[in-house]
Amino acid sequence: MNKCMKVSDQNFMPVYNRYPIAIEKGDGVYLFDNEGKKYLDFAAGIAVFAFGYNNKEYNDALKEQIDKIIHTSNLYYNVPAADAAEKFNKASGMDRVFFTNSGTEAIEGAIKLARKYAYNKTKTNDSEIISMNHSFHGRSTGALAITGQPKYQEAFRPLINGVVFADFNDLDSVKEKISEKTCAIVVEPIQGEGGLYPAKKEFLQGLRALCDENDIVLIFDEIQCGMGRTGSMFAYQDYGVKPDIMTSAKALGCGVPVGAFAATERVANAFELGDHGTTYGFNPLVTAAVSKVFDMFESYQLIDHVKEVSAYLEEKLDELVKDYDFVIERRGKGLMQGLELSIPAKDIIGKAMENGLIIISAGSNILRFVPPLVITKDDVDTMITILKKCL
Ligand SMILES: *Cc1c(COP(=O)(O)O)cnc(C)c1O
Repeated sequence: MNKCMKVSDQNFMPVYNRYPIAIEKGDGVYLFDNEGKKYLDFAAGIAVFAFGYNNKEYNDALKEQIDKIIHTSNLYYNVPAADAAEKFNKASGMDRVFFTNSGTEAIEGAIKLARKYAYNKTKTNDSEIISMNHSFHGRSTGALAITGQPKYQEAFRPLINGVVFADFNDLDSVKEKISEKTCAIVVEPIQGEGGLYPAKKEFLQGLRALCDENDIVLIFDEIQCGMGRTGSMFAYQDYGVKPDIMTSAKALGCGVPVGAFAATERVANAFELGDHGTTYGFNPLVTAAVSKVFDMFESYQLIDHVKEVSAYLEEKLDELVKDYDFVIERRGKGLMQGLELSIPAKDIIGKAMENGLIIISAGSNILRFVPPLVITKDDVDTMITILKKCL
């Protein structure tokens, strides 16, 4: 254990069990620790660095903005925020966006907007949100309340009330929970932390129909599955089911802390002056990053690349399912893939790290592959070679 690790363990809040490496820098799809060891990275900072590390075009855009201004507040307009909002809405098909500092804050905003929409209709405060078992929406108390994993919630009750849970991919279980109080249904089109489960098309279509029939707001959490990861800019676009509110974060800024919640005009107009706010949100440094990220998705033709390379990754992961009896199943979509094991994932992850490969888990027995979107087939081959050694 080197000095950085000791100091960290003595001074940080004791909520993370970190792997014993200290990352110093990155280049392309490789990371380097502070002892000079090189790692092929199939985690991308948890689905964040779409273009890989130390990308000159991206870095230059941020440096240029730093030299102009980093922060202004929301009392004034700024050009990078305007550009980022226009590009976000064009890419997402939403009409109005609010930039936050994280995913969990994007969820908080989505909850508030859905509640306000219901409040404007009913003038009562007893609206309910339906969320899914095994979902993950963040760690602030509102987002935690709609996260369908009791182990994260138990010690922190009371969380916000008015939340009920249904089963993912089970439309009947959602129907059972619907009442005149229901103001929103929130769902990840592909469950991430919960175990890399893609929604069935009929399930999302069914939710859309339920929401239309009952004037309920449909919220898609695209924080992990959005931004090109599953082979369309946002996962909902490939499903052909459009939400009323959508959240984004992770790869949205490719490394700067930024999230967003966005909505169609009809729903967004439920908010009035003063209903929501933030000091850092919309700040010109992070929105300059967002703006650049959208430009680069186009110039790199990244969506086409994801489709091609992810088909190859799927093929290679499927071979592992065939070859090893403790590799049970492959799940996921695009470059958001999971391998369910019958053994603990952390043993494999530790071995992989020793062999120069970074992968992460989802739950205790699922290996999660969320690499930079720019990985090549050669990188996939390298990853598979190392992984086989560890398996
Ligand atoms: C990561 C994640 C969040 C929380 O985002 P933070 O930036 O960590 O607050 C919410 N929803 C989903 C689907 C996520 O993957």
